[in-house]
Amino acid sequence: MLTATTATHCPYCALQCGMNLRPAGDGVEVVERADFPVNRGALCGKGRTAPAVLSSRVRLEGPLVRRPATGRLEPATWEEALRTVADGLRGTRERHGADAVGVFGGGGLTNEKAYTLGKFARLVLGTSQIDYNGRFCMSSAAAAHQRAFGLDRGLPFPLEDIPRTGCVILVGSNLAETMPPALRYLTELKENGGRLIVVDPRRTRTAEQADLHLAPRPGTDLALALGLLHLVVAEGRTDEEFIGSRTTGWADARAAAMSHWPAQVERITGVPVPQLREAVAMFCDAPESMVLTARGPEQQSKGTDTVGAWINLCLATGRAGRPLSGYGCLTGQGNGQGGREHGQKADQLPGYRKLDDPAARAHVAGVWGVDPDTLPGPGRSAYELLDALGTDVKALLLMGSNPVVSAPRAAHIQERIESLDFLAVADVVLSETAALADVVLPVTQWAEETGTLTNLEGRVLLRRRAVDPPEGVRSDLEVMHALAALLGWEKGFPTDPEEVFEELRRASAGGPADYAGISYRRIAEEDGVFWPCPEPEHPGTPRLFLERFATPDGRARFVSVTHRAAGEETDDAYPVVLTTGRVVSQYQSGAQTRRVEELNAAAPGPFVELHPRLAARVGVAEGEAVAVVSRRGRAVAPARITTGIRPDTVFMPFHWAGEGRANTLTNPALDPTSRMPEFKVCAVRLEAVRPE
Ligand code: SF4
Repeated sequence: MLTATTATHCPYCALQCGMNLRPAGDGVEVVERADFPVNRGALCGKGRTAPAVLSSRVRLEGPLVRRPATGRLEPATWEEALRTVADGLRGTRERHGADAVGVFGGGGLTNEKAYTLGKFARLVLGTSQIDYNGRFCMSSAAAAHQRAFGLDRGLPFPLEDIPRTGCVILVGSNLAETMPPALRYLTELKENGGRLIVVDPRRTRTAEQADLHLAPRPGTDLALALGLLHLVVAEGRTDEEFIGSRTTGWADARAAAMSHWPAQVERITGVPVPQLREAVAMFCDAPESMVLTARGPEQQSKGTDTVGAWINLCLATGRAGRPLSGYGCLTGQGNGQGGREHGQKADQLPGYRKLDDPAARAHVAGVWGVDPDTLPGPGRSAYELLDALGTDVKALLLMGSNPVVSAPRAAHIQERIESLDFLAVADVVLSETAALADVVLPVTQWAEETGTLTNLEGRVLLRRRAVDPPEGVRSDLEVMHALAALLGWEKGFPTDPEEVFEELRRASAGGPADYAGISYRRIAEEDGVFWPCPEPEHPGTPRLFLERFATPDGRARFVSVTHRAAGEETDDAYPVVLTTGRVVSQYQSGAQTRRVEELNAAAPGPFVELHPRLAARVGVAEGEAVAVVSRRGRAVAPARITTGIRPDTVFMPFHWAGEGRANTLTNPALDPTSRMPEFKVCAVRLEAVRPE
C-alpha cells in the first residue's frame, strides 16, 4: 500500500498530465502536481477520478477460462489459464501455420509492453500478424509526417510554443473535450494577441473559442486546405526563399492547388470564399503560425493526403522547420506516440525502424540474439487483421484494446471475433471484447506498475507504481514472460520494466526514434526527456527540423495531392453524413470510464446530435429516440438538437456498446497509405423511433 505521495501520470489521453497520488482511506486520491509543465496541475474529470478503476467492484481479480460444459467464463488458476493460452496459440500454429495466430495491441500500453508484445509476436509466435488500435488513431498523420519530413513525431515542438506563435489553425480537434487542460495553450495564444482558426463541422466547445470557425462538410478538409493554398499563391503570400532552400516538389504541389478554384472549394466544402480569404490573411499576416490536426482530417480514406495538404500549406508559407512555426498532430491515446515506435505496428521494429529494411532487421535481431532471416515480414493492418479473424487468422492474443466497441463496422468485427478458434484477452475489466474470450487474463493497470510513455510532444515520461495490485493480478510483462516459457522460449522476456527499457534503448539506438540516451534516472530527474536522444549526455530534442528535415537531402517534400470523394458519399437512400467523436467524460471505448460513477453521471450514454431543420424533417424532438442507419447497421440513441452542427450532418460519440454503438455504422474504407479506416465520414439515414 502507498505510504507516501507518488508523482505519476494520468492513465488516459496523450497529454499524459502529471498528477500526485497520495494515500486516502483504503486507496489513493489524486492531488494536483503543479510543477509538471504540460498541465501545471490542471486535470480533467477523467484524470481526477482515475483511482476509481483501481478499486472498482467490476475489476478483474483472477483469471477466467470458458468451460465447455457451461459455455461460460469461470474462475481458474493462473497456471490453468496460462497453460490454456499457450495450448491455444501453439495448437493453432501447429495446425495452420504461424500466421494463423494474430496479436492485437493498444496505444495505451507502456513503451515496455508495446516493445515486448512486438518481440513476443515475432520471436515466440513467429507471426507477422500483429498490429494495434493506434492504427485507428493517428496513422494518417504519421504517414504524412514521414512522407513530408522523413520522421514522425506528433508535435515537432513542445506545447509551450503554441501561445507564442501568431496564428493556429486547429483542424478536426475538439481539445476542450478530449484534453481540456490543453485548452489553456489556446487561451494564452489569444491573450498574447494570437489568432485561432478552428476547422470543424460542429461548433464545439473548442470552436467557440475561435476567432474564425470554418465548418466544412465532413470529408472535405483536403479540398479546404487546397483552397487556402490556392489563395496563398494567388495573393502572392508564398515564401519563395524557404521553398527554394528547404523543400522539393513545389511545382507539382502548386499546380495541384491551383486547379482547386476557391468557388469550387466553396461548393465542395460549404465554406464561403470570404471565410477562406479571412483564414489566409490571419495565417499569413502572423509572423509565425502553426497547423495542428487531430482525428477529423486523419480518420478518412484520404487522411494521409489530407494531412499532406495542410503540411503543403505550412511549407509554401515557410511555416515549418522554424521556431514557433510548423505542422503538428495532436495524438489521442495515452501512449499513441510511443505505442507506434517500439514494434507492435505491423510494419515496424523498435526505434521506429522499418520491418522491411535489411539494416533495421539486422540491428534488432542482433539485440534479440537471433538470425535476422527468422524475423517475419510486415503483416496486415489493424482493420485488415480483424477482418481476417476466423478465416486466415484462427487465434488471437489481444492486449489493451476493445475492438468490439472501437473498430469500424463493429458488428461485423464482433462476428469475426466470435468465429475465432481461440481468443485470449489481457485486460483490467471484462470489456465487451474480453467477454467473448476463451481465456481472460487480469492484468495490472497504471498506478500498480511502473513504465514509460511518450506523450504527444515526444516527451518520454515515467509512470510510477504507487499501489500494490490485487493478489490475483499479474503484469502484462509477467504474462508474456510466462507464455514465452510455456512456448519454449526460456530467456529474453524480462518482467522488470526498467530491464525491458534498457533493452529497448539498445534496440532503438541509431533508429529514427532513438531512446539510447534516455534512462529511468534521467526521466525522473528531468521530468521527461524528448526523443531523439542518442547519448546519455545529449539534452534531448524538444524542437525538430530547425536545421534540416529528416529526409536524405535535408529538405521537406511537398506532395502533390488533389481532392477526391469520401469512401461513401450521400445519396437518396442515405442522405445525411455521420461523423463520430468523443465527449469530455468518457475515454475511447469506455471500458474504464464507463465504470466510473461520476463520469457516467456526467455522460451516461450515447446521443445523436443533429440540427433543428434535420430534426424537423425526421420528425424527432429533443430527447426522443432516433435511429441512425447506414449500409452496415443501425444504432439508436436520444436526439440532441443544436444549431451548432451542419444541417446535412449528424454526430455520435463512439464510447458505448449496445444499441447506441456508433461504430456499428462506420465505414472501414481504408486510406491506401496509412491503412486507417474512415471513422469520420459515412452516409446514413435517420428514422424516428416511436414508442410501441
Ligand atoms: Fe488525463 Fe488527458 Fe484528462 Fe489530462 S487531459 S487528466 S491526461 S484524460
